[in-house]
Parts: sequence; structure tokens; C-alpha cells
Amino acid sequence: MNRKEFLHLTTAGAGGLFLTGTAWAEEKQNEIHPLTTETQEFVVINARLEERFLYNDLGQVKATQTGLYDIHIQAGKIIAIHAAQGKTYAIAVFDAGGKLVLPGLRDMHIHIDKTFYGESWQAEPLRGKTVKDMIDLERRILPELLVHSTEKAEQAIDLMNSKGTYFARCQTNIEPTSGLKSLEHLQKALANKKDSIQSEIVAFPQHGILYSDSVGLLREAAQMGVDYIGGLDPTTVDGDMKKSLDVMFQIASDYNKGVDIHLHEGRATGLPAIEYMIEKVKENKTLQGKTFISHGFALGQLESKETEAICAQLAEVGIGVISTVPIGKLNMPIPTFYKQKVKLMTGTDSIIDHWSPFGSCDMLEKAKLTAELYGWRDEFTLSRALRIATKDQCLPLDEEGKQVWPLVGDEASFVLVEASCSAEVVARTPQRKALFNRGKLIYSV
Ligand SMILES: [Zn+2]
Repeated sequence: MNRKEFLHLTTAGAGGLFLTGTAWAEEKQNEIHPLTTETQEFVVINARLEERFLYNDLGQVKATQTGLYDIHIQAGKIIAIHAAQGKTYAIAVFDAGGKLVLPGLRDMHIHIDKTFYGESWQAEPLRGKTVKDMIDLERRILPELLVHSTEKAEQAIDLMNSKGTYFARCQTNIEPTSGLKSLEHLQKALANKKDSIQSEIVAFPQHGILYSDSVGLLREAAQMGVDYIGGLDPTTVDGDMKKSLDVMFQIASDYNKGVDIHLHEGRATGLPAIEYMIEKVKENKTLQGKTFISHGFALGQLESKETEAICAQLAEVGIGVISTVPIGKLNMPIPTFYKQKVKLMTGTDSIIDHWSPFGSCDMLEKAKLTAELYGWRDEFTLSRALRIATKDQCLPLDEEGKQVWPLVGDEASFVLVEASCSAEVVARTPQRKALFNRGKLIYSV
């Protein structure tokens, strides 16, 4: 079979799980083809993939069966998957050495535009307790943070890559102190690292849309390539819930952007804000599926029936929730989000900044934290916990244990870990050994 016939066959097979037969690149023994960042076509050999669940006599999942495969990648996509046969290929190869291959991780809420990361250690500075106190603090420290914010963002991207993250939704400050500089510096960092990270940007009015009069700046930012318009506590910071949310939605609609609001407010004011958002998104179909509530602490302060009802409404109008999985004062109703099919994602939020000294940029830690918090300890529920950290809740096996990832045609964005299965990965958060982003090897140890 010549190369053209081979490609034809693999294309015809797209959508199926595995190709069988001998449709491989020409074999040449003892020829070394090292992988470089420019390599367009190569094979990841000896990659461990999950195949199915194994059940006990009671029908419970007791283990996960895996096997070794060779994954053929071309131009950023998976074009064929074969049982590993110990072949030497004529094209470049990357030997996974039996490591487990999982979907790449996505950090869907992170602020790399104003981090202390890369500097010497410092704990949280003494600060006030309220968001308004934090706004005062930011007004004092942001000018200095902006001086090196591009380099720090790039270092943060390196850190994310080392944790298996290939995609980040980056929040960036848009307020009178930073003007548009925070956004410009972040965009520069993302451009410099474009092979290493895929991204979305949220124009975040950290000092209040109305409280700091950031409407004009948000409109300018909306024309500078951002993906989402943000908002912040419309009652406790902006002092006018409906007006604040109306302005946010209006800017998003005017420039055809999504919405991703920071809503820290508790039940008393947070719930009416969520209900108003549901109403607005119901009216405006263009916002459905691209409106997100970050934090949404009010949802963790409701009676269980109320939670079920509001989650059903969020799912119906396509409003997603991005929770950083808080511990301590309140727990979010994450099992209810899943039950009601609310689009749920998480992010690491900060890495060593004035908001928190704890961030590590590790999405597996978030998955593990979630599993610990909600008591997911057996093979099946631990394996499900990984979905909070992947694209569209992607997992290798579906609920019935059918292999659904990776498939021929999928984007080649995946992480290699030293582990036997997803459940072990969530429980033990092993070291990330390699990361591929759209078919490019961007990290390996
Ligand atoms: Zn945030």
C-alpha cells in the first residue's frame, strides 16, 4: 500500500475507534527519527490506553483493563491507533514506555496576569477582608506587578505545561489602574507561548464594572481579541445588580462574546443575581452555551430542593459553572451539577498571589480534591472524577466502560503519566511525564 492509499484508509476510518490491518507507514529497521517540535507526523509507541472496566460478582467496577497501543499523529490529529506491535517506524517515534495516556488537562479559571510566581516566596500580604478591601490593595500593587507580568505569565504557562495543562481560560484585569496593559501583556505572553498553550481570555472588571467605571475599557477590550466579558459581584461591589448585569450582557452581545462572571456573593444577593442571569440568557439565545458563573458560592448555600431546581434551570439555558472547589466554609453541590447536567469546570485560580498563596496550577489536584470531598473512592467514581479537569468532561471510558477516547480524528492533545488507570491518577496525582498540544511535544521529563 502506498502512502496515498494509507491516508485514504485512515481518513475513511475516522470516527471509528481503532484501525486494524497493516496500514502503517513503511517500516525500516534500525533507523532513528527523533521527535522535534517541528515534527508534523510521528507515532507515539507503547502508549497505555484504557480498554474497559472489569467487574466483580456484584456487577461493581473492580479494576480498569488497559493495553499498549501505537498512536499515529499527523498535523495535530490522531490519524490511526494500533495495538503496539514492537515495530520500528520509518517516521519519527516517541516511546511512551508503557505510560498511561490521558486527555490533556484544561485550567478553566486562572489569573496569570498578576501573579507573584517566579519571585521569591511570599505569603498573603496583610489585607482587608472584603472584595472592596482587595480592590484598594490592587490599586496600590498592580503598577509594580505589571512591570514583569509578561515574563511571569510565561513562567506560569511553563508550570501549567509541567502539570499536564495544555489549555487555559485566562482571566485578565480590565480596570482603570491597569487600563488595557494587563491584557496586552497577557496576550504577548500567550503569543510567545502559542505552541505550548491554547487559551481563551476573559476581560475581567476586577474593580467592578460600575464601581470603578470600567465600561469604556471593557468595550475597548472586547475589540482586542478577548473571548468573554467578565463581571464582578453586581450587588456587593457594583451596588446595582440589574444595572451591572445588564451592562455586562450588553457589552457581550454587542461584540458577540461570551460571559464569565466572578460571583462571590452569598445566597441573599447571589441567588437573585443567578436568577436574573437565567432570565436574561433565556431571552437572549446567543448567550446560551457561552455564559459561565465562576465561583457562584450562593449555589452552595441553598436547600437541596432549591439546588436541584436552580441547577436544572442553569442546564436548560446553557449556563455553566466554574468552581474552584472550595473547602472549609462551604461545599459546592458538585454531585448535583453532574446529576442535572450543568456544564461544570474547574480552574486553579491563583498561583501565589495576593488572593491566595496556595495555587499549584495542578488540575489533577483539583480532581483529587473533588474526589476526597465528595467521597469518590472506588475505581468507578475515582475514574469519573478526572472529568472536572478535561475538555467537555472527556474521559477514556464512558459510564458503561466503553472506550470513547482517544478516537481517530481527535486532536492530539494528551498527557502521559506513570500510572495504571484514571482512578489511580486521580487518587495519587502522579508526575506528568510528557504533554502533547495539537501534536506538538511541549513538555517531557
Ligand atoms: Zn478569579
